Amino acid sequence: MRELVVISGKGGTGKTSIVASFAALAQKAVLADCDVDAADLHLVLEPRIVQRSQFSGGSRARIMPGHCTACGKCEEVCRYDAVFYDGPGNGRVQKTFRVDPIACEGCGVCAWFCAENAVEFAPANNGEWFVSDTRHGPMVHARLGIAEENSGKLVSLVRNEAKKVAAKRNLDLAIIDGSPGIGCPVIASISGADLVLVVTEPTLSGIHDLDRVTQLTKHFGIQSLVCINKWDLNAELTTEIETNARRTGVEAVGRIRYDRAVTEAQINGQAVVEHTQDGAAADIRQLWSEVSERLPASSPLTIL
Ligand code: SF4
Ligand code: SF4
Repeated sequence: MRELVVISGKGGTGKTSIVASFAALAQKAVLADCDVDAADLHLVLEPRIVQRSQFSGGSRARIMPGHCTACGKCEEVCRYDAVFYDGPGNGRVQKTFRVDPIACEGCGVCAWFCAENAVEFAPANNGEWFVSDTRHGPMVHARLGIAEENSGKLVSLVRNEAKKVAAKRNLDLAIIDGSPGIGCPVIASISGADLVLVVTEPTLSGIHDLDRVTQLTKHFGIQSLVCINKWDLNAELTTEIETNARRTGVEAVGRIRYDRAVTEAQINGQAVVEHTQDGAAADIRQLWSEVSERLPASSPLTIL
């Protein structure tokens, strides 16, 4: 089982278009959309959901109005300003305290200080995750609830479920649309992966983003490759990015030209390689050939 993760320093670099095309070209692969904060692989691959599950990233406090004496201690100790004095009254006090479940981080401090044992904890519903079938193979994806942030945990869950699907269906490759940036979700996307492809654009921020992302992959000891999307918008910066990448031990394996066909394909709900043979589609085919050559031989499956 091999895991290829496609990431970028920031959103909007064309990463998902590339993943969708890789899915079409690879055929025997499981897909995982780990960009859970802005999941959009489903827009191209039109998944048919076969399994739907709740995701709980932790617990949230709830004050039981019948037990609360309105002493205010919980409000005083909550560092997240999640406690409000607007709960319903009981036989002893006119108003009680209430926890806002969106602001609550589930740290448990209020419960520790409450002399009345009036705080209980219940698992929060932070979103949903799905196993689906697509025209290019099975896919695991997720949707975070509004204002939910526990995405590192959800990313790990999506990756692990993708491995289980791969084992069940006898697939030995997972193609992962990773989270952008360098925070917890991207670390959860790449840790333990076999190969990372970084997608960047020829802009000054692209150079900076690539530098940060490759420092991260190096830190985790993961082989990384880079490709430049819309390279012809600035050929000079493209060369500079490729030179910098090589200097830091990252192989530059592809250039994808700017092509309106990419947007046309998205509008039609297709991967660009399904939409056309030429232009950016030809570049992505070439890129896939370079990337797949560098994937290691299949290794034993580890499911956490
Ligand atoms: S600490 Fe307990 S009793 Fe005091 S206001 Fe908070 S929930 Fe109510
Ligand atoms: S669990 Fe922590 S964050 Fe939530 S209300 Fe209590 S003190 Fe505040």
